[in-house]
Amino acid sequence: MNRIYLDHAATTPMRPEVLEAMLPYLREQYGNPSSIYTEGREARKALDRARDRIAKVLGASSPREIIFTSGGSEADNLAIKGAAFALKNKGNHIITSAIEHHAVYDTCRYLEKHGFKVTLVPVDSYGIVDPAAVEAALTPETILVSIMHANNEIGTIQPIAEISKILRERGILFHTDAVQTVGHIPVDVDELGVDMLSLSAHKFYGPKGVGALYVRKGIRLHPLIHGGGQEQNRRAGTENVAGIVGMAEALVLAAGEMGEEAPRQRELRDRLIQGILARIPHTRLNGHPEKRLPGNVSVCFEYIEGEALLLNLDMQGIAASSGSACTSGSLEPSHVLLALGLPHEIAHGSLRLTLGRGTTAAEIDAVLEVLPGIVEKLRQMSPLYDANAGCKAH
Ligand SMILES: *Cc1c(COP(=O)(O)O)cnc(C)c1O
Repeated sequence: MNRIYLDHAATTPMRPEVLEAMLPYLREQYGNPSSIYTEGREARKALDRARDRIAKVLGASSPREIIFTSGGSEADNLAIKGAAFALKNKGNHIITSAIEHHAVYDTCRYLEKHGFKVTLVPVDSYGIVDPAAVEAALTPETILVSIMHANNEIGTIQPIAEISKILRERGILFHTDAVQTVGHIPVDVDELGVDMLSLSAHKFYGPKGVGALYVRKGIRLHPLIHGGGQEQNRRAGTENVAGIVGMAEALVLAAGEMGEEAPRQRELRDRLIQGILARIPHTRLNGHPEKRLPGNVSVCFEYIEGEALLLNLDMQGIAASSGSACTSGSLEPSHVLLALGLPHEIAHGSLRLTLGRGTTAAEIDAVLEVLPGIVEKLRQMSPLYDANAGCKAH
């Protein structure tokens, strides 16, 4: 049986063209970019070209504004800890949202143990941050704001440009985690008005373990990794040349096909959402109906457990994800779903299906074929569910 992969927000398969672009740097072109002889200079050239290509796609004014990292998590950590430690004489207050990825959320929590104060701005029931709430949270001590461009669980896209207008007037540093948007919807650092922006190659059909942080010219950051002078003394360590070359190739390809791919996925997404809501009672859509990622479907089914649903889908050949954090070994629903104001028991029944460039209409229809039966079967096993009454008190 063919598998149906609907977890592209977790990771994407690497494109064959990306592998092709990487192979020479995994085989014969093994030079260290810091070496001054021919092999080293060849590797340096590949690195420079990749940096240049990435800077252009993001609208950066110089390739020097791109710092290569080991992925999205490191980029988020470098932006937040790097800026906080560099600015700690100016103030100690950081603002972030209640629905950030753990790479931002836990980093801010860590900084609280080191003398920083963190304000979590709430979101509305669609998961959208109100720019006025960010403005209201500002204090004379505020040194940094970090709000993600789009959420990985519920797909909501934030009004980053509006928030940046407020922060620019006051000269406050603004970082966005754009790991879910780069390569999927237009991302231009000047249009967004951000000072720092995180991206990760494996979320746009590049290799795992490589990413970048865009850092606007003139911004000081403390490095997290000390050692050599690579990446303008901001990130020590011999660069992942093949990975970086692959990331640049993947980004250029994704940017080139976005104009067709994003509307195609949006159409499939809406077909899936409408099909689920029409066929399965006691279901709600998480996130905003329009201000959402082209490939994101997130729903909650009342009276069931997300994990049981995932296992049943897997047996039917479908790879999906849930917001209840089974991976972390806890049964707590995700902080994102709770921040929307969902009660615990509903947040437990969440399902995330994220589409990609390989997703077909036939796959969407196959999911719509099997999902209602699985949900009904699980509900029959739930003590809270009364099929005849249609619903029941919680
Ligand atoms: C995947 C993801 C990350 C982490 O990126 P890695 O490259 O896996 O470390 C950070 N933020 C968001 C929003 C993500 O989706």
